[in-house]
Formats: sequence, structure tokens, C-alpha cells
Amino acid sequence: MKIIMLGAPGAGKGTQAKMIAEKCGIPHISTGDIFRANIKNGTELGAKAKGYMDQGLLVPDELVCDLVVDRIQQADCEKGYILDGFPRTIPQAKALEEALNAIGQKLDFALDIEVSDEHIINRMSGRRACVGCGATYHVIFNPTKVEGVCDICGDTLILRDDDKPETVEKRLEVYHSQTKPLIDFYAAENILAEIDGTQSMEKVFEDIMKILGV
Ligand code: ADP
Ligand code: AMP
Repeated sequence: MKIIMLGAPGAGKGTQAKMIAEKCGIPHISTGDIFRANIKNGTELGAKAKGYMDQGLLVPDELVCDLVVDRIQQADCEKGYILDGFPRTIPQAKALEEALNAIGQKLDFALDIEVSDEHIINRMSGRRACVGCGATYHVIFNPTKVEGVCDICGDTLILRDDDKPETVEKRLEVYHSQTKPLIDFYAAENILAEIDGTQSMEKVFEDIMKILGV
């Protein structure tokens, strides 16, 4: 099963993608996680991406597309994958389509998690990310057992720089102008499914399972 996750920053794509990946036994590929790992490891790609990310802007398409196209051709993607945070622009969607056509594959589902901008601002200010393993939590909706400490690896939780309110506003603006057009793009391909992302995490997951037929 080949799935892409659409939705505003903070809509719950990562949260749901991890749950789907576990349930369906397919890899969760988050371009945001890949960039953050590169920044942490001090790579050239990380250095290039950081400036854009800190300002709430998208990393240029040419830095993202090849990376994803290579990743989805690795052995663990044979049974499928979930792309989380890619594509984010029409040129990225077209690059993905072209690459899939070349290897005789097609996407099965584009899951759009719908959450209004007002909800997003609250979600982002409460999101906490682990500096060690990248796991995400929410101070109210998905708290850790011990405040400020990751349940999975025990490392420290932080508020991501790009989750600060001024950057979130910029990211929402970028989402509306550059990423939202993908909804019509995938509706035209007949693979779009829309989910009410303001429901509890469990209910959102249940709705997704029905759509996937799992
Ligand atoms: P995205 O990957 O789309 O940027 P996340 O999955 O990281 O978003 O979710 C953003 C924040 O909202 C996180 O702190 C997460 O724990 C929380 N969250 C995710 N889904 C829900 C939900 N259905 N209800 C309340 N909070 C949620
Ligand atoms: P995310 O973790 O998905 O919210 O992504 C964090 C940041 O990484 C985004 O705000 C962008 O700056 C960058 N990023 C992640 N995925 C992409 C992509 N597909 N295209 C461009 N920039 C991206």
C-alpha cells in the first residue's frame, strides 16, 4: 500500500503515519524527520535545509525530490510506504508521479487530514519533540509519563524552533499557497480521502483504517 499524507503542519500527519506504519508493517518516511536528522548529524544537506526550515519556508524542491525517489526504491519499501510531508508542492507531486511511472508503480491513497488554522496554532504550541529519537507528544492531548522526558528513549523534550507561534503563522501561509493545491491534484487522480482531523487521535485512526480497508 502506497500512501501519502496531506494536511497543514500540525494536522496530525506524523502521529497517524506512525500508527498506520505499525499496523500495516510498512515504513513511515517523513521528509521533516530526514532533514532534522541531517541537521543533527551536521551534514551538508542539513546545513542547506536549516535556513529554510527556521524561517518556516519550504526547502527547495531539488533538495527533496531525489532524496525521496531514492528512498522509496529501497528494499523495505517493496510492500509499500507512507510519505509524510512529501509532496508539498505541485512540482514535487509531478516528480513523484514521474518516478513512480518509470518503475511501474502508482499511489493508492492520498489521505488529507483536515484541521482549521485556529486548531493548528493550539496544537503546535503544545507539541513537544524528543531531541534524541524525534518522537512527538502534546502537553495536553498526548503527554509523556514524566513531564519533559521521552517515553521511548528517555531523552529531553523541546518545543521545535519552527513550532514557535511566529514561525507557525508563516508555515500556515506557505501551506495554503503551495501545499493545499495538492488536494485538487489528488482528487483529480481519484485517490483523495478527507478525514476530520479535529477528532481524537483514536477516532482519526479508526476513520483512516476504514478508508484503507484494514
Ligand atoms: P504533523 O505531522 O501534521 O505536523 P503531528 O502529528 O506532529 O502533526 O501533530 C501535531 C501535534 O498535535 C502533536 O503535538 C500531536 O501530539 C498533536 N495531535 C495529533 N493528532 C491529534 C488529535 N487528533 N487531537 C489532538 N492533538 C493531536
Ligand atoms: P515537517 O516535520 O513535515 O513539519 O517539516 C518541517 C520542515 O521541513 C518544513 O517546514 C520544511 O521547511 C521542511 N520540509 C519537510 N518536507 C518538505 C518538503 N517535502 N518540501 C519542502 N520542505 C520540506
